[in-house]
Amino acid sequence: MQKIALEMTKNPRQKPLDQNNLGFGRYYTDHMFLMNYDEGQGWHSPRIVPYGPISLEPSAMCLHYAQEVFEGLKAYRAKDGSIRLFRPDRNMARLNISNERLCIPQIDEELALEALKKLVKIDQDWIPTAEGTSLYIRPFIFAVDPHVGVHPANHLIFCIILSPVGAYYPEGLNPVKIYVEENYVRAVKGGTGFAKTGGNYASSLKAQDEAAAAGYTQVLWLDGIERKYIEEVGTMNVFFVIDGEIVTPAIQGSILEGITRMSAMEILRSWGLQVHERPISIQELAQASDQGRLSEAFGTGTAAVISPIGELKWGDKLMVLNNGEIGQISQKLYDSLTGIQWGSLPDEFGWTVKL
Ligand SMILES: *Cc1c(COP(=O)(O)O)cnc(C)c1O
Repeated sequence: MQKIALEMTKNPRQKPLDQNNLGFGRYYTDHMFLMNYDEGQGWHSPRIVPYGPISLEPSAMCLHYAQEVFEGLKAYRAKDGSIRLFRPDRNMARLNISNERLCIPQIDEELALEALKKLVKIDQDWIPTAEGTSLYIRPFIFAVDPHVGVHPANHLIFCIILSPVGAYYPEGLNPVKIYVEENYVRAVKGGTGFAKTGGNYASSLKAQDEAAAAGYTQVLWLDGIERKYIEEVGTMNVFFVIDGEIVTPAIQGSILEGITRMSAMEILRSWGLQVHERPISIQELAQASDQGRLSEAFGTGTAAVISPIGELKWGDKLMVLNNGEIGQISQKLYDSLTGIQWGSLPDEFGWTVKL
């Protein structure tokens, strides 16, 4: 494995004083990880350096054609003082899946994981300790060829930055209102929906904006061909409880395979619950709601962990779930996942990595 060089900052920054007001992605730590790719040399010069601006040519390809991929995970400070990561190997594996789709050269997953751990250790004083807070880790890769021509990049930068983030639910888990999107689509089979790449988010902003203006927190995405099958909710995977069984859309090429999603399924199954990955149409959901068989719905993702859904608006139809209150399964799943992540519950699955 390549050796990771280290240059410590001479100007440590002021850490945010108020841990109860960190928000999300507002503060960054003292250091970042960088590595370059140049054709002929491969990935080289892995290094940890002071956090700061990166200079680019205005012609840098990522600015024009969005050849970019990213990941998101968290480091948690447990009550015993230890620092924990949650299934970080999965993030690195997924980064390479995204790389493959965007014609970005594969990274050495072990090296990337080593770099991530080293960086978190160096900036560990930045990990907040207040209830529900964490250090958000953002690995990303972008093309920097100074070339306004469309082709796979020959020069790229891999960067990891860290951001102390606040509790997602400072006032406790509150079910959100969701707008079922019938006009815009997030992804189609054959596109880039299964990759974590910037373009997917750029193209989702308009729908999100319109839903927000109408009083909704997120949109529920339907499939891009028939506008019939459910895909994801905002930037989260989505689960429904119908007749006491749990269903989630099957991974079929346009859905991002979340690590929270796969972990949630394993926990739910360990409780003896049935979890089905299959196509779910919005019509089926509306019918189940009418018949009182749709008891809960929730999104899953690293940022919120579990996001309970209280209301779904589909055209003229309004589906209210569990009287707009958080359901039992959603709450229990949230408690289990966060318990494992923050180390207050035993990790029977071997998912946490202590630093
Ligand atoms: C990141 C992401 C998710 C959730 O993935 P996790 O690994 O659980 O954080 C789901 N959908 C989209 C579109 C995403 O970008």
